[in-house]
Amino acid sequence: MMNCPNCKGIDIGKISDTEYYCWQCCIQMIQKKQRINIYEIEADGSLSSLDDLFNKDELTQTWG
Ligand SMILES: [Zn+2]
Repeated sequence: MMNCPNCKGIDIGKISDTEYYCWQCCIQMIQKKQRINIYEIEADGSLSSLDDLFNKDELTQTWG
């Protein structure tokens, strides 16, 4: 079971094979090989990276 790196919630929706969405804190996660990138969805629909807020371990958990 995957947990959201931000809120530790398990209410994760799958958008595509590599893209996930946390319904609790409304962030998007994109899996890239052995790590994930975390994004906040702006009001205009664009993505802004939140990777700076997380440590390496949190961004390298294996998903899926
Ligand atoms: Zn979350």
